[in-house]
Formats: sequence, structure tokens, C-alpha cells
Amino acid sequence: MKNFDKNFNLNQSETFCMFPFTGFRNLHGYFSPCPIFWRNETFFSDKNKIDGKAVDTFLNSEDMKALRKDMLNNTCSDRIKDVCRICKEHNSKGMSCLRNAANDFMAPFYDEVIKNLNDDYSLKNTDVLFSSFTNNNICNFKCRMCDKERSSSFLTKKDKKLNKFLNPNVLIRKEIYDTNFDIFRTSKFIYFGYSGEPFITPDHLYILNKLKKENLTDKTIIYHTNCSYMSNEILNTLESFKQIRILASIDGTGDFHKIIRPSKTKWSTIEANIEKMISLKNLEFSIYASVGALNAFHIVDMYNHFVDKHYITANNFVINPIYNFLTVGNLQQDVKLELLDYYNKNIIDRIVPNKEQLNFHKNTIVEEFKRFSEFIKIQPSQDVNFFKKEMLSLYSEHKRFFIKNYNYLLKAIL
Ligand code: SF4
Repeated sequence: MKNFDKNFNLNQSETFCMFPFTGFRNLHGYFSPCPIFWRNETFFSDKNKIDGKAVDTFLNSEDMKALRKDMLNNTCSDRIKDVCRICKEHNSKGMSCLRNAANDFMAPFYDEVIKNLNDDYSLKNTDVLFSSFTNNNICNFKCRMCDKERSSSFLTKKDKKLNKFLNPNVLIRKEIYDTNFDIFRTSKFIYFGYSGEPFITPDHLYILNKLKKENLTDKTIIYHTNCSYMSNEILNTLESFKQIRILASIDGTGDFHKIIRPSKTKWSTIEANIEKMISLKNLEFSIYASVGALNAFHIVDMYNHFVDKHYITANNFVINPIYNFLTVGNLQQDVKLELLDYYNKNIIDRIVPNKEQLNFHKNTIVEEFKRFSEFIKIQPSQDVNFFKKEMLSLYSEHKRFFIKNYNYLLKAIL
């Protein structure tokens, strides 16, 4: 295998991503190169169905070899443009993406990964370093920015019949886990999330308890969670592992949380669960907030709330911009300018950035708000008519809250 420029690949390349070189992801019962890979015909076809298949066949498939070749040679092929479009979109708006995060936290394994490649970009050894599980879309929340594919709470009976990807029963059978258990033995990172709420899916505990029994606990377990559920049983299991990283999908405190992520869960339960989680010494808790029109003015208060409560350290806050109809791109120009000014006065010009305990994307909180400010300047509007319709319905459902907190939206919709 020829030599590749490590520094370029990890820090400057527009295509290189550690995920397709390091292992296995299960996205709704299909093998996939990473947790957010765009669902396209190449990868989401019967040949990549997990049921009964070993992971090695997938890792050394022609599609995976071609993907690695494009990535290592910085070739922005149609394949990459198609399947890596979420990361590309984030980068084009100046935001960090999952690719950047993966290249950061798996950088120590880069040399090992390159040495493990054959000339045809197949892997010599198919031991998995990073495994990721999105087994289903079973979720107890109906978040406004989410969809049927990622939360079963949106599904109707008809949906379940019509679309295999929407079926919440796409659970991987335990015997498949047992057959492929070497995946977990070698994984240094195990991720649960992206779709469905992992803590209400028993499968993940099955895997972790089996690892615990075999004393294979020298691992980092990463979760995307809505923090609505936590039990002593889960806590007892988690505390045995080397590191737990929680990326909490929370976009507002109190009533803001209820408005943005409707569910039966009380805000006090969320906070009680956070307190249970942060009581574990091996756990790092971060907020991974989806930010758009409904919370753009609230996130500074929310950030301060979490820091004051010692739930997060100064930099453990990631802004994940919303791209759909709830995007800040739908705010009026004068509102956007007001927002930029607000971030400058309350974060960017006020906080002295420290480089300790950087967030998931290795940014300080100041860098995070600076990046988001740049995003606001260039993000276009999206599905404006649908946005107005949804805001009108929110207005009629929660009039008092809306008038008090969303005055800046009223002029856009009335
Ligand atoms: S670049 Fe993004 S979409 Fe492509 S494999 Fe990496 S994380 Fe996934």
C-alpha cells in the first residue's frame, strides 16, 4: 500500500473518514459504514442485511473497498457526494461534522488502520475497532425536528405496513449478536444511538452485560440519548466500563424542552436522570443540542443553566444546526442580526476560551458559537410554507408561551 499523508488525511482532507476503515455499523438491520450514512441503493440493499451474515463479508465488500479508495485518495466521487452528504453539508456551512469528530477521537489508531490495508483497500484483519448500533427506531419522544424513520412515536399502523425502514420491530436477534460477538470483543468504541432511544432498548444491555461477564470492559461506550430513562441496572452495568460518553439530545430547559421535544416525560425526570448519570465517575456528560428557530435565543440560557448546575464543564456543549423547516434560515433578517449580536454579547465577547475538556468536536464553547454565527449568516430558508403552518399550530396550541417567548416568530407568521 502506498504512503498517505497522515496530517492531511486527519486534518485537511475533504473525504477521509476513519469510520469505513475501523469497523461496523448496524443501521436499522443493515450494515453501513457509519452511523449517519445516507441511505442509498448501494449500501441499503439485501446484500447488506445483517441477518445471518458475518461482518467480514461486508467490511471487505467491493463497495467498502471503493469507498476507502476514494477517501484515501481525496477523490470526491459521486459515491462520496451521495453517501457522505450529511457531513459534506455540515462542512460547507463551516460546522464540524461527524467525520471530523471520528478523525479526532480515532486519530491514535490511524497508523494501525493504514497498516491493516491491502493494496486493493481490503482489510487484512477485520477486527472491529468501532461498532455502532441503531437497531430500531423505538422512541418515546416526538421531537419536532425528527421524523418517522428515527422515532416510532410518529408511526401510524399504515406506515408500519408500508415501509420496511420504518418498522420498529427491526430488532437484531440475540443469536446474531452471539454469532458475531467478536465484533464487541475487539471494539474499543461502541456507539448506541442516532435513531430510537437506546436506553429503552434492552439489546444494548444484553451486549454490555455479556462483555462485563467476560471482563472485556476496557472500552468507551458512547450514547446519543434523550435522558428520559435511567435505571439502577443500567447504571451498574455502565460503571464497569472504562469510559461512558453521553451526548444528550436536549435543546431547551423546562417548558422549552416540552415544546421542542414533546413527550410524556417531565423536565424534572430528565434532570434527575442527568444527576444519576453524572454520579458515575467514568462518565462524561455533554449536551448535543439541535438548534433552530425555536431555541436559537434560548440556548445561551440553557448553556448557563447546565454549567451552573455542574452538569457540564465549560466546553461540553455542541451546537448541531437544524437543516429542515425549523432552521434558523427561516428567521427574518433583522432577527438574525439580533441573534448574532446576542451571541457576541453573551458568549463570544464575554467568555475567555479555555482549551480544557473540549467538546465532542474539539471546539471551545466560544468557537462553537462563532461557527454557529457563521452558519446563521449563510443558511438559506427551508420549506417556508410548512414552517409557517407549523408555527401557527404551535401558536394556537401554546398561545401564552408563544407570545412570551416567540415574539420574534410572530411577525414572520401572522
Ligand atoms: S464522511 Fe460522514 S457520512 Fe461519510 S462515512 Fe464518514 S461520518 Fe459517515
